[in-house]
Amino acid sequence: VWAARHLGHRMPERVAGYDLAQELLRAAPSERRRVYFFGSAPGVAEKAKAKAEKLYPGIEIVGVRDGYFKPEDNAAIIEEIKAAKPDLLLVALGVPKQEKWIAAHLAELGVPVAIGVGGTFDVMAGVVKRAPRWMQRAKLEWLFRGLHQPKRIRRLMALPRFILRVRAAKKQ
Ligand code: UDP
Repeated sequence: VWAARHLGHRMPERVAGYDLAQELLRAAPSERRRVYFFGSAPGVAEKAKAKAEKLYPGIEIVGVRDGYFKPEDNAAIIEEIKAAKPDLLLVALGVPKQEKWIAAHLAELGVPVAIGVGGTFDVMAGVVKRAPRWMQRAKLEWLFRGLHQPKRIRRLMALPRFILRVRAAKKQ
């Protein structure tokens, strides 16, 4: 959001993947959209499915599959998703694995919409907590996640580099 604004693009607000996913799931029953949950640790997507069925009555979650698999399982996973014929595929393999997986397989899957949703199933399953609202509003959700999952710290180091690149791009 900062970079877009800095470069003069209109960007009203941040939209967290979790919030986007919830809005799409909320709309799914009335739009009759079939949803597939792919990713996160074994058991987590099942719990997220149960949560979605409670929150969004009538939702059709047509498949779940965890995100810890060997390369040789990939073809079977793709077949499983194709057979379930979802309209919306939520993929939680972490950044950038989920984006790369979607880019490599979207055409073959024949799914109209696939989105990388990171830790969404973890939050839905109650395995991971989101930052309190005040931190989200203060644009500090990244700090909360870094403190709770120190393995993220290395990734946060990319932010200063990103800021320098955006500034350099503006000067060009
Ligand atoms: N994950 C997975 N397979 C992997 C690596 C990660 O299913 O090989 C899952 C992980 O269990 C978590 C989700 O991907 O549920 C998101 O990971 P992370 O917390 O790193 O989120 P990010 O911020 O990268 O989207």
